[in-house]
Amino acid sequence: MAIQNAYLKAVYEKVCARNPGEKEFLQAVDEVLESLEPVIEKRPDLVEAGIVEQIVEPERQIIFRVPWVDDNGKVQVNRGYRIQFNSAIGPYKGGLRLHPSVCASVIKFLGFEQIFKNSLTGLPMGGGKGGSDFDPKGKSDMEVMRFCQSFMTELSKHIGADTDVPAGDIGTGAREIGYMFGQYKKLRNEFVGVLTGKGLSYGGSLARTEATGYGLCYFTAEMLSCMKNTSFEGKTVVISGSGNVAIYATQKATELGGKVVALSDSNGYIYDANGINLDVVKDIKEVKRGRIKEYADRVPGSVYTEGCSGIWTIKCDIALPCATQNEINLDSAKALIANGVMAVAEGANMPSTPEAIEAFLNAGILFAPAKAANAGGVATSGLEMSQNSERLSWTFEEVDAKLKNIMINIFHNAYNASKEYGHEGNLVSGANIAGFLKVADAMKWQGI
Ligand code: NDP
Repeated sequence: MAIQNAYLKAVYEKVCARNPGEKEFLQAVDEVLESLEPVIEKRPDLVEAGIVEQIVEPERQIIFRVPWVDDNGKVQVNRGYRIQFNSAIGPYKGGLRLHPSVCASVIKFLGFEQIFKNSLTGLPMGGGKGGSDFDPKGKSDMEVMRFCQSFMTELSKHIGADTDVPAGDIGTGAREIGYMFGQYKKLRNEFVGVLTGKGLSYGGSLARTEATGYGLCYFTAEMLSCMKNTSFEGKTVVISGSGNVAIYATQKATELGGKVVALSDSNGYIYDANGINLDVVKDIKEVKRGRIKEYADRVPGSVYTEGCSGIWTIKCDIALPCATQNEINLDSAKALIANGVMAVAEGANMPSTPEAIEAFLNAGILFAPAKAANAGGVATSGLEMSQNSERLSWTFEEVDAKLKNIMINIFHNAYNASKEYGHEGNLVSGANIAGFLKVADAMKWQGI
């Protein structure tokens, strides 16, 4: 389905002309604008105030050179990005992605999505995103440190605890955040909560590591309960990826009674009919930084298959894509539907293509979009900011309880908005609308 409303169509055409070739960004804008059609009809004041034209344009885009020296003494140059998209409801907030695929389009799509996701959490956080085409894979710790220091040397001029608070994302884990925080502190002589995802000994929050995966399962459990009167209990679950989100989604889905039978990485996937042994996965991925393939060598009865997309041909009740964008295309969606999937909830950002989402919605499958379902990570980052401001640390149980509550609220806000705006049960529309309205009203009241 394409955008029908003439005003929104004109805005979208302008975005296309202004950002040629940025396919991920244009895909994200298209999806949001399409959902806003009923809002535009009900809220002419927002059209008058030019809110949509403004929200699709980042407030600020920073692109910079990141020179660093490798272990052979050779100078390497990467490109750094920070897109400060919207600060209407709080300081810019969003992760830093370190991956060779990073480009302006990817960071802008992520930053744009982040505006609505952060709004849905109910916490005072604006939207931003950043990163670099640097690949930490295969680099020594010292190379990663030199890169992070160079990256932060420039980034430090643009961020601050009340201005812009970056966090981790693909390729940016505790090690990278530590090096970046250390460099910021050295440059500014300030010990402040300028980054989240920090180590526990220097201002990190308990449960931040687990938050996105746990939050995804809390959201999915509420969706299953309210929309299908069921739960994870006894369900077969397929999860893609084997990084931070996938690992903790596996842990929580299992705790809630589901059986996770598959995980993947960018080379291939493993299938274990007995249920994934998470201790083995954690040892391979978190301790040894190895490949998921090694699981099949260590766990009898499990099978490894080369290539990623085949994971969606495994029969399951619940699919949780937790790897990367556009990993479920129409063919994968059709395979999941043919195999009787009941619910798909996105742990990764934009893992389903628009055609795949349409297929799920048309087939009556419960579908939880990323900006609602994976908001637990940034929500807990928001809780880390609160703890840093208070100079206090909350217990794991306190943070986890707040996270669960936030995810349940996000589900109900998205569901209620879908109902109010005439698309009951369509959580894609509901999440976009609920996230948008709060930011749009704040923008309107603040003037241009
Ligand atoms: P990690 O880097 O920890 O893990 C990413 C995982 O996905 C790795 O196992 C990686 O494999 C795998 N992967 C990458 N590309 C592909 C591919 N094409 N096919 C299959 N697997 C692939 O990242 P996170 O777990 O932190 O993030 C995963 C997703 O969740 C991203 O979209 C991220 O933006 C999103 N997200 C993360 C949050 C967080 O708190 N961490 C918060 C909200 C969203 P390999 O090792 O081979 O690269």
